[in-house]
Amino acid sequence: MTTPTNSAPIRVRIAPSPTGDPHVGTAYIGLLNFIYARQRGGQFVLRIEDTDRTRFVASSEQMIFDSLRWLGLNWDEGPDVGGAYGPYRQSERTEIYREHVEMLLASGHAYRSYETPEELDAMRKSQLAAKLPPRYNGAHRELTPAQIAAFEAEGRVSVVRLKVPVEGETSFRDELRGTVTFSHNNVDDQVLLKSDGFPTYHLANVVDDHLMRITDVIRAEEWISSTPKHVLLYNAFGWDLPRFWHMPLLRNLDKSKISKRKNPVSVIYYRESGYLPQALLNFLGLMGGGMAQPTAEEIVSKGLNVKDGDIFSLAKMIESFDFKRISLGGPVFDLTKLKWMNGEYLRALSPENFFAALRETIFSDEYLSRIAPLVQTRIETLAQFGDMTDFFFKDDVMPPPEVFLPKKHTLEETLAFAAEQLTVLEATSFTTEELEPALKKLGVEKEWSVKDNFMLLRAILTGKTASPPLLESLIVFGKARSLDRMRRFLDTQKKLANQRK
Ligand code: GLU
Repeated sequence: MTTPTNSAPIRVRIAPSPTGDPHVGTAYIGLLNFIYARQRGGQFVLRIEDTDRTRFVASSEQMIFDSLRWLGLNWDEGPDVGGAYGPYRQSERTEIYREHVEMLLASGHAYRSYETPEELDAMRKSQLAAKLPPRYNGAHRELTPAQIAAFEAEGRVSVVRLKVPVEGETSFRDELRGTVTFSHNNVDDQVLLKSDGFPTYHLANVVDDHLMRITDVIRAEEWISSTPKHVLLYNAFGWDLPRFWHMPLLRNLDKSKISKRKNPVSVIYYRESGYLPQALLNFLGLMGGGMAQPTAEEIVSKGLNVKDGDIFSLAKMIESFDFKRISLGGPVFDLTKLKWMNGEYLRALSPENFFAALRETIFSDEYLSRIAPLVQTRIETLAQFGDMTDFFFKDDVMPPPEVFLPKKHTLEETLAFAAEQLTVLEATSFTTEELEPALKKLGVEKEWSVKDNFMLLRAILTGKTASPPLLESLIVFGKARSLDRMRRFLDTQKKLANQRK
């Protein structure tokens, strides 16, 4: 197990995939990498891992840039700023991966496998039926040249797989856990190059971390089971390993892995809801326990407030964050605490800066100028602007049943339908061209009239039965906050229903 020599200049990276809204988990891992680099005079690299074309969302990359910049986590090298080891977008590096796959094929560390999707499906099903974990059965590990020629003549397409040794185990050092060992029984012959010519995460990630001279891979714990595959790849190429740090995952209050059903997870949500970037960073910096907290003794002797140890700036984190102090118990993303913290930051602003913060967010010219045209033709005095648009400026609206319940549907049906609307909206881009047909299609499927369908959504979004044009309002209010409003509505109704039971 070789790891980088101490003298190698520190280089770390985050490697988000542009598959949707930037996630708070990305901000958290971004913060840790940023601190690590700044503490050691190193470089912080942003790489976009966009090789999964099925999950690719075009607007996502720009949102990742914007959210990280909003937080002040600026990168030294990346797709938009360049650098000596680019390109930094994996879709622009496919030639590099193909060359590396050829190297692995030539050295016997990888092989082509020619199963059809139907054959792979049958393999999976028979394993599941036999209560075995589904995995590739190795059927094409040792094909003869004649068999290969026959498959190719049939016109079959191949993928390239990693030849994981049948016996033994792979170990690596995790800087927070010590030695971690995986038996090869539990490591699948991972696909490295897909039939569309794109690499999988595993291959591209390892090749890039090596070529970009990454010394420390600091990422979320969910990747730890991928690491033995990566180690096998480093070994197959004959490359030194980076140091691996797998950070504890953020958790919901109930300790499950953080999820949008239980917490807003989009960084955009926090920005648009008026959280200050310093507060969010501070909160994320508390996760995992890398910052020293005052001892009980200090709290008493210095007369500190129990929460005093929780407030610190990014500069302070760079000064005193200790990676070795990180504890592996899942840190809880507690929204109530984040809100409290944001309040502390708001109160600490000078009146001028507080006003400026309002003008940059919920009273920005940009936001107001998008709201104004929605009501111009509907009001008789300017003061009515406030009556018509209050829901744009509120944190929450909670319509009573007489507002949201259509005459023809029961409460139960209505809540079930609202949950379906939420699912549809989650999967839809917020443009009128996409929103309208998606919602109408749902209405047809569930036999809800267009009127009832849109009235329900209007009630949930605005708290009222009349509003400016609904879809335009949703778009201006924004996807992240609209979805949150719907989730809160559903949660509240669920709680009320439980109370009635
Ligand atoms: N593309 C992976 C992600 O979306 C990167 C994981 C890693 O850091 O290796 O998080």
